[in-house]
Amino acid sequence: MTDSITTDDDASLQDFRREVREFVARSLPHAVREKVRLGLELSKPELVDWQRRLAERGWLAPHWPAEWQGCNWSAERRAAFQEELVLAHAPESGGITFEMIGPILIRYGTPAQQQYFLPRILNQEHWWCQGYSEPNSGSDLASLKTRAVRKTRPDGTEVYVVSGSKIWTSYAQYADWVFCLVRTDTEARAQRGISFLLIDMRSPGVSVRPLVGIHGWHLFNQVFFDEVEVPVQNLVGEENAGWTIAKSLLEHERLNLARVAENRRRLAKVRAIGNELEEGGQPLSQRPWFARRMRALEVRLEALAATVLRFRKRARAGETLGPETGMLKLLGSRLIQDIENLAVDALGPDTLAYDRAAHFEPAVPQAGQSAYAAAASARRFVTRGYSIAGGSSEIQHELLAKQVLGL
Ligand SMILES: Cc1cc2nc3c(=O)[nH]c(=O)nc-3n(C[C@H](O)[C@H](O)[C@H](O)COP(=O)(O)OP(=O)(O)OC[C@H]3O[C@@H](n4cnc5c(N)ncnc54)[C@H](O)[C@@H]3O)c2cc1C
Repeated sequence: MTDSITTDDDASLQDFRREVREFVARSLPHAVREKVRLGLELSKPELVDWQRRLAERGWLAPHWPAEWQGCNWSAERRAAFQEELVLAHAPESGGITFEMIGPILIRYGTPAQQQYFLPRILNQEHWWCQGYSEPNSGSDLASLKTRAVRKTRPDGTEVYVVSGSKIWTSYAQYADWVFCLVRTDTEARAQRGISFLLIDMRSPGVSVRPLVGIHGWHLFNQVFFDEVEVPVQNLVGEENAGWTIAKSLLEHERLNLARVAENRRRLAKVRAIGNELEEGGQPLSQRPWFARRMRALEVRLEALAATVLRFRKRARAGETLGPETGMLKLLGSRLIQDIENLAVDALGPDTLAYDRAAHFEPAVPQAGQSAYAAAASARRFVTRGYSIAGGSSEIQHELLAKQVLGL
């Protein structure tokens, strides 16, 4: 596989960057660009529309294999692509669908699962959510209790009957399918009795309860399964071997949780705030306290981007990434929080007013106010959760200490 990867010299990368810029300038609606520039949430139709345009250009899942519309790009080209999208204020594509379940099905799915699901992901018929965490199983995920019992129906077909509940399920309100860790053996050691199951959200017995965060944003949900019948063909990998799949997914998830593109986008926003505002008759960007913090954040971002690129090259060369990817998640989440803290410090008391609608539509700023002020506090609260999402910082520290440093 590695010999067919695009190799890039500087000139071809520059040509490619120009091609991406021209594509975005042509294809991205102005209203969506403005929302992304201000750090607001996009609606599902807005995202679907943008992803359709990417798909038409062949760039919706560039990191997938060529047979599934992937582009065989080098790690540098992939990074350049993401950077150009960020610089042009283009939305990021759905991570759970394209970064998680897609790659899992490509690696572990049966040919029938791949033939059924992957085209439906690529044409956006299916949006996915991730059903791992439970009310009493988060950090200690292997203690999960959602039960799947195999039974034969009177017509002879075999199904799993799933009962239990998943929580903090991001975007379940939009999802058509959920990939779940379920317990298929209660006698075996915790990790050995878990299976990886694909469940249609429209199945009888599935219900979704919204959980609105302190920031006013409906990201999370609790999903309930009340004796939901799932065809056995929806099992990925072997029964009771789901933990291996879950672990490989978490390693990839943590690579993405470095959030390089998102960090870049948010830092560009703070840079714009610095250029827009004044303090003591000077542009804020030239005030020593602001400039010093900005420089430090820029250095951290470039170091993180270089480290992610190194990991991606290793992954691209077929290496299995180990627990050291936890480092990227830690660095990326801390960086993004410090960026949002600087935004709030720069904007000052204007960020205190809280306007839920400002999450979704650009607010009309009051005289003398920055357009970035209305959503700034909410954005800062959203990033607090990044210490927890994908495995909490405390757990990452512990894993790094034990498994990487051998302490
Ligand atoms: C933004 C966001 C999006 C999410 N999206 C999803 C999703 O789509 N799907 C999904 O399945 N889950 C999702 N989650 C849930 C997330 O994976 C869990 O919240 C996380 O794994 C922590 O589990 P918990 O909330 O049960 O906290 P707990 O495990 O109860 O931990 C509570 C606190 O105790 C600490 N702690 C726990 N055990 C230890 C230990 N052994 N040593 C030291 N400290 C410890 C933790 O660090 C944490 O601070 C999301 C979470 C967030 C914040």
